[in-house]
Amino acid sequence: MHEYSIVEALISRVSQEVEAHGARGVMRVYVKIGALSGVEPELLASAYEVFREKTVCADAELNIERVEERWACSSCRQALAREAGLICPRCSTPARLVSGDEIVLERIEMEVA
Ligand SMILES: [Zn+2]
Repeated sequence: MHEYSIVEALISRVSQEVEAHGARGVMRVYVKIGALSGVEPELLASAYEVFREKTVCADAELNIERVEERWACSSCRQALAREAGLICPRCSTPARLVSGDEIVLERIEMEVA
């Protein structure tokens, strides 16, 4: 499953950070998941539950923030709705995705000695 490899990468990133900061443990991990990223937050959460055992994240809570898709004109930056056809009414330029496709490790709450 796609979500398993994401969790694997996530936990390895977290353990790098833990090592870099000489932290004793991880309390909370914050990730942002875009609505268009192809990742199901529920599946990610259950994959995390399976994977975190015996890792630096064993006692860490996973906090998933869903990011809705947002589009804007690539020329004048006017915000555009998908329903409106994704073409700017002002300058007829196609829209650009501003957010919604991201998978981001946002923040790690660590316990530092
Ligand atoms: Zn425009």
